[in-house]
Amino acid sequence: MSDKNPPINVFRPKFRVEEILDEIRISLEKGWTGMGFKTDEFEEEWSNYTGLKFSHFLSSNTVGLHLAIEIFKIRNGWKEGDEIITTPLTFVSTNHAILYSGLKPIFADVDDTLCLDPKSVFDKINKKTKAIIFVGIGGNAGSLDKISKICKEKNIVLILDAAHMSGTFVNPSSPIHVGHEADVTIFSFQAVKNLPTADSGMICFKEKRNLDICKKLSWLGIDKNTFSRSNSKGGYRWDYDVPYLGFKYHGNSIMASMALIQLKYLDEDNNRRNEICSKYDSLLSGIDSINSIVTSDYTFKSSRHLYQIYSLKHSREVILENFYKKNIFPGVHYKDNRQYLMYKSNSSLPNVDKYSDKIISLPLHLEMSDDDISKVADKLLEMH
Ligand SMILES: *Cc1c(COP(=O)(O)O)cnc(C)c1O
Repeated sequence: MSDKNPPINVFRPKFRVEEILDEIRISLEKGWTGMGFKTDEFEEEWSNYTGLKFSHFLSSNTVGLHLAIEIFKIRNGWKEGDEIITTPLTFVSTNHAILYSGLKPIFADVDDTLCLDPKSVFDKINKKTKAIIFVGIGGNAGSLDKISKICKEKNIVLILDAAHMSGTFVNPSSPIHVGHEADVTIFSFQAVKNLPTADSGMICFKEKRNLDICKKLSWLGIDKNTFSRSNSKGGYRWDYDVPYLGFKYHGNSIMASMALIQLKYLDEDNNRRNEICSKYDSLLSGIDSINSIVTSDYTFKSSRHLYQIYSLKHSREVILENFYKKNIFPGVHYKDNRQYLMYKSNSSLPNVDKYSDKIISLPLHLEMSDDDISKVADKLLEMH
């Protein structure tokens, strides 16, 4: 490829390299790269930033979703075959987590924000329904407030897959970070999310007692972590007990060091994302046959992890082929999970059917210039 026409990809993470290396060096010089130390520091910073008090740093969002379901299964006596209402328009992690715990995913329809539609969710609730997993696609809060209300009324657990929602604030009158509506909220700091590390995640509980179990379950079920044992008076203490069959899911100090630096820039980065989206909005507003996905009236400020559109004129394949020729590489978030072998089902979900074969995520990242944004929009204009 010529330098004059470098590829414009859907994602590209931005790292503050020198600052991150300095932060990682602290762990290396101390001789503590595992759980504890920087993970404790990042948990505290994250809780300060979001106001979500009971946070635990993990190796990914996927393991956090699994832990969330395991913890409520233990607490509330959920049985294999009990149901969790979820969306088929998501990354498969969301739905795999339900299957890991032996529960049954029940797919509901989405609304025009591509998040779960409260009416469809309501219709799927029955005696076996134990939880709802709401996915905030692209940072959209959709009708999270209405679904939270349904959960309270029906005594159903609300799990928020906030993989795209770092720095999404709700409630215009007093900005509050998203997550306070849910019983448990799980963030992703995977390599191309809007707060990128290499791989890590955060789980935040409404109740402290759930955090206490989580800390054990994410560390093989062991009741005391090594960092606190090392810091106990008189040096390292080796003994512990194992009350649970836990998992090796906790995060480490190298990832936490990356996250600590990235968090300092999260608001600035999300502001730039919002700016890019406004530019797309105005450049595309003149094209009648292109619609942009709305983020919700209720969202005060989305992280804008994604900018999604669909065409009323051309198929997705035609549009993508035209982009590829220009060295522009959009993405798709997501294919209807019911089209995968694991989740085959022929339930009727009109909005999922309407959107899933059409939606395109335009390139959106912090290395994009205004010129890149125009190039993408011009190409769409040319096709419509
Ligand atoms: C990325 C993603 C996940 C999984 O996050 P990891 O940290 O990679 O495990 C889950 N749900 C959604 C919606 C995602 O986009």
